[in-house]
Amino acid sequence: MSTAIIEALNLDKYFDQHHVLKQVSLSVARGEVVVIIGPSGSGKSTFLRCCNGLEVAQLGSIRLCGQQLLQDGKLLTEPDLNILRRQAGMVFQSFNLFPHLSILDNVAIGPHKILKQGRAFARQLALELLEKVGLAHKAQAMPASLSGGQKQRVAIARALALQPEVMLFDEPTSALDPELTREVLEVMKQLAQDGMTMIIVTHEMNFAREVADRLVVMEDGVIVEQGPTRTLFSSPTHPRTRALLQHAL
Ligand code: ADP
Ligand code: MG
Repeated sequence: MSTAIIEALNLDKYFDQHHVLKQVSLSVARGEVVVIIGPSGSGKSTFLRCCNGLEVAQLGSIRLCGQQLLQDGKLLTEPDLNILRRQAGMVFQSFNLFPHLSILDNVAIGPHKILKQGRAFARQLALELLEKVGLAHKAQAMPASLSGGQKQRVAIARALALQPEVMLFDEPTSALDPELTREVLEVMKQLAQDGMTMIIVTHEMNFAREVADRLVVMEDGVIVEQGPTRTLFSSPTHPRTRALLQHAL
């Protein structure tokens, strides 16, 4: 049996005439940390969104946790789609916390409303996750009182509360100052060390070098190079990889 958590095969995605993913294939094994790099507009976000069915590629297939999410360009239908989609937690650049709910409730609402866990159980789980991201002391605070880094850590806890098999991060620190970026990357590094399967789109090359098992380089809708992180840093072959990594070398 395959241990791949995500298997994307030959994805082609168009927005009208605009071909934004071109025969993209990527397989991610359980426990693997993959970092995707590439210039703006190269299709990184679109690829991540395809992996949990937020976008639909017109051609190709995706298996998520061994289940067919997309087959020959056809997306799984509800209600199975919603159940499968929970296996892939997503964290975006913008935190999108519920402004009228406390930090604790922001994290507990998913397990309670979606996983139908009892309120007390959901709140206990939420508290444990807030502990994990270093924010248990903010459980009763409201989102507006938090820094951007703290909000993003809550967003990570909220995604984890649905007990996903894989976490997808789309430039989680791009909106943050360096100081706040560090605390978010620290949480992500801890997650990686705990064995979480992760796909991360980021420009933080030092983080990538330290945490990623594999680097994937995208340009203009194509994966132009991929390989073990150390190999790409030490001997990049594609000019785009060289350009992206040169400042970090
Ligand atoms: P990246 O995340 O690498 O910056 P994106 O996946 O966001 O790239 O975008 C890839 C291309 O697809 C870009 O040219 C972008 O303008 C286009 N695109 C992304 N989302 C949409 C959309 N919802 N409608 C039309 N075009 C889009
Ligand atoms: Mg993007």
